[in-house]
Amino acid sequence: SKAVQAEAAFLFYSEEMNQRAKEHLRIESELRLALQRNELQLYYQPKVSLRSGRIVGAEALLRWRHPVRGMVSPGVFIPVAEETGLILELGNWVLEEACRQVRAWKDANLIMPPVAVNLSARQFDRRLPERMADVLQRHQVQPEQIMLEITESLLVGGAENVVSIMNELVAMGLALALDDFGTGYSSLAYLKKFPISTLKIDRSFVIGLPYEENDCAIARAIVTMAQQLRQEIVAEGVETAEQMSFLRDLGCDQLQGYLFSQPVPAEDFERMLREGKRLAFTVR
Ligand code: C2E
Ligand code: MG
Ligand code: MG
Ligand code: MG
Repeated sequence: SKAVQAEAAFLFYSEEMNQRAKEHLRIESELRLALQRNELQLYYQPKVSLRSGRIVGAEALLRWRHPVRGMVSPGVFIPVAEETGLILELGNWVLEEACRQVRAWKDANLIMPPVAVNLSARQFDRRLPERMADVLQRHQVQPEQIMLEITESLLVGGAENVVSIMNELVAMGLALALDDFGTGYSSLAYLKKFPISTLKIDRSFVIGLPYEENDCAIARAIVTMAQQLRQEIVAEGVETAEQMSFLRDLGCDQLQGYLFSQPVPAEDFERMLREGKRLAFTVR
């Protein structure tokens, strides 16, 4: 009967929810331990200039080496951390670790390009400028060394306090990048309200280049607009020489992607910088 079917569906559904909730709880409690047990690490992925081929920046990406499960992807644990609020602790750890590493590189006489750190919307509150000033000061890191990557979700609604927090950060010397651009709901006109110096074209539009007409049109529109707004453009997830050529011809400034390097541990990033690893442009 219908009622029996409905009940079966409900039981099935709630069993599935139950599993998800359990998984969620497990990740949450293990993530708390991860902070204490030093299971977290930052990897660094180079950003490369499409003019010089040189490394001009890096993005710090969080990695969790779980003692039993191995590498857990941020795609799995960041959403859990966001929901539980644990992202605030994780986010502070990331800022602390990125500044510590930048300081260590400076002390080792490395010429460091800016390092970008991802920020969750939940970290973006009134106290953020103060927290940034504190961590920079403790590690003796110049604000110009750090870039903050934020996502469009923060802009939607255009909350006045968001604009003023951004202005405070920029006045301190920090640069702001808009991550995953094109996947959210912010309109182009909207963007000029915010003191953002860099736009990162989301990987989902880069994948189809240069063969998918729609992706080409979107990439072209984003680059054209960013040039008008005098923003730097970084293309995410560039994997092929064809994608690179297309983006370069468009006038895109930088690329970040497996074509040049995956995210790597600090030592490997340092080696790339020391060896002056460059992007080869000859391949077509
Ligand atoms: P994101 O900030 O957009 O970072 C770029 C993601 O694209 C990274 O995934 C990177 O490994 C991946 N990627 C880069 N180049 C390529 C490529 O050529 N091909 C492919 N297939 N992928 C590429 P990852 O490290 O797994 O991070 C995923 C997301 O997790 C990040 O996306 C970011 O939203 C979030 N995340 C990572 N670390 C942090 C963090 O410290 N704090 C916060 N709040 N979020 C973080
Ligand atoms: Mg990012
Ligand atoms: Mg991104
Ligand atoms: Mg992305």
